[in-house]
Amino acid sequence: MLQRPPAEPGMREEEVDTPALILDLDAFEANLDAMAAFLAPTGTKLRAHAKTHKSPVVALQQMRRGAVGQCVQKVAEAEILAWGGVPDILVSNEVVSPRKLARLAALSTISKVALCADDAAGVALIEQAAEAAGRRMTVLVEIDVGAGRCGVPPGPEAVALAQRIAGSPHLVFGGLQAYHGRAQHIRSPEGRAEAIGSAVEQTRRTVEQLRQQGLDCAIVGGAGTGTFRHEATSGVFTEIQAGSYAFMDADYAANEDAPPFRHALFLLSQVMSTPKPALAVLDAGHKAAPTDSGFPRVWQRPGLRYAGASDEHGNLVVEGGQRPDLGEKLRLVPAHCDPTIDRYDWFVGVRNGRVECLWPIAARGAMA
Ligand code: PLP
Ligand code: MN
Repeated sequence: MLQRPPAEPGMREEEVDTPALILDLDAFEANLDAMAAFLAPTGTKLRAHAKTHKSPVVALQQMRRGAVGQCVQKVAEAEILAWGGVPDILVSNEVVSPRKLARLAALSTISKVALCADDAAGVALIEQAAEAAGRRMTVLVEIDVGAGRCGVPPGPEAVALAQRIAGSPHLVFGGLQAYHGRAQHIRSPEGRAEAIGSAVEQTRRTVEQLRQQGLDCAIVGGAGTGTFRHEATSGVFTEIQAGSYAFMDADYAANEDAPPFRHALFLLSQVMSTPKPALAVLDAGHKAAPTDSGFPRVWQRPGLRYAGASDEHGNLVVEGGQRPDLGEKLRLVPAHCDPTIDRYDWFVGVRNGRVECLWPIAARGAMA
């Protein structure tokens, strides 16, 4: 159930009910502009990942600034984006459920839709769904370029799978999916450059082997916020799939050469108890802020550290700074933006200290 918005347009930020997800609109727009400006001279396109923002409103803003479409991980996300007006969607993932494939085939009547495969049996399932729906479906071959997740090995196995797709009257071979997830948070620039250098070379060879068999890749996609500067300038990738860049989080800020984006996403939380001189307790605990990448960081309040959480409490320890007052509201920088956003129904858009807009996170929780 969609929760009541925690704010109304015109309110001051301090009046917003907590915990709430604050979107600093100036920083957010600057991030979208910075990505568009970086990519423009490379010729590489942005197909932003909607698993981060989960919102057709954000998707359409990205597309207004030149993104060619959106990526999703889930069929339910694809549905919400398509119904929200996004015209071009890539499921950057495998789908093997016949029912989900039927839903995707049906969706392709209102938006352009493609998906990935890494197995001939999976391709056969997509083919059956396409035939039953009377639609040709576009399929990319996912190759494993180092992530150790989904994907066939680059080279001959990928070519064989592409030939299987291209040989089907119900399918269109759409290109390669080559995302190196593990590389995104390698802290040193040298380590990340090496990992992506290898991914690019494996992808380049596979594209070439496909071409020798008469198969062109309309899309060669991959990259995230940590590595897009490499893939975008590789001459091999046609699309990059960054998602977190629009918001930034503390985990990406910890890369030694942090990506060139501003923190635009904050958790607003309130001090609900000050039981000891060096302790303030916030109303944002595990349920408000996932901790897979550590605790959230306190924004611009030196000497305060978010040091512990229980379900609905966050413990702020005072390490030399001024303890915040009871009732005070503080901004926190999420450690990992994607699972954080997925816990909220609304982006509270703030500019110059005032609430400007409330955007529904319509695909929140959409995972089927
Ligand atoms: N592409 C795929 C397939 C992903 O799974 C991810 C994130 O895990 C991304 C791109 C990049 O996302 P981000 O820029 O948020 O790191
Ligand atoms: Mn993430």
